[in-house]
Amino acid sequence: TDRQPKYKRILLKLSGEALMGDEEFGIDPKVLDRMALEIGQLVGIGVQVGLVIGGGNLFRGAALSAAGMDRVTGDHMGMLATVMNALAMRDALERSNINTRVMSAIPMSGVAERYDRRRAMRYLNTGDVVIFSAGTGNPFFTTDSAACLRGIEVDVDVVLKATKVDGIYDSDPVKNPDAVKFDQLTYDDVLDRKLGVMDLTAICLVRDHDMPIRVFNMNKPGALLNVVVGQNEGTLVSP
Ligand code: UDP
Repeated sequence: TDRQPKYKRILLKLSGEALMGDEEFGIDPKVLDRMALEIGQLVGIGVQVGLVIGGGNLFRGAALSAAGMDRVTGDHMGMLATVMNALAMRDALERSNINTRVMSAIPMSGVAERYDRRRAMRYLNTGDVVIFSAGTGNPFFTTDSAACLRGIEVDVDVVLKATKVDGIYDSDPVKNPDAVKFDQLTYDDVLDRKLGVMDLTAICLVRDHDMPIRVFNMNKPGALLNVVVGQNEGTLVSP
């Protein structure tokens, strides 16, 4: 492809649910392969890719807690779920011949490397995909916050949040056919209008550090590449 990337380094956040495909739980290998292909296109045009994958397809602390489990234990399970997703994604990426490193915020010798910022940046510089797993390593956080935190730490140009809809709307487009999509918003717009794009912790973090976020539809084939070459796809949240 002759398409020129707009960004040198990105952080892509995939929800765990995105990996389920049409299933109710777990991981659909077909979806992983499609994502690996799309991520490979970015690597192919020289974009450095960091990945954060959620765990909602397996476990969420809040849901386990609502069912009676201790919240912190549930969050630990949720973070471990993100490690499983990361291993599955690495497998798919490496089958597509893309060198991939899995780092974990929770040390897990023999399974994943311990997260180390400078080492992660070295890997990114050599063109390896780096998957930041186990969230922030702390309970009561989300992988959206982890994506924003790691994105800021390793100095990406943009955090890309992959969703099931093609941007941020003034109301839920699945429920409301008259929902209007925004092309661009400020962090304060998101907070004032309570748009629920990401949790408040994540939004405040990116706001404090002027890190732009783009929300786009990962179910639309080619959308990820469009975003990275600077086409108007989804919604941009910036200062
Ligand atoms: N989690 C956590 N700390 C973090 C990131 C995640 O405790 O820094 C736990 C939390 O229980 C969360 C689960 O891991 O519900 C899975 O992450 P998330 O819900 O963000 O996944 P997604 O919705 O993106 O699939």
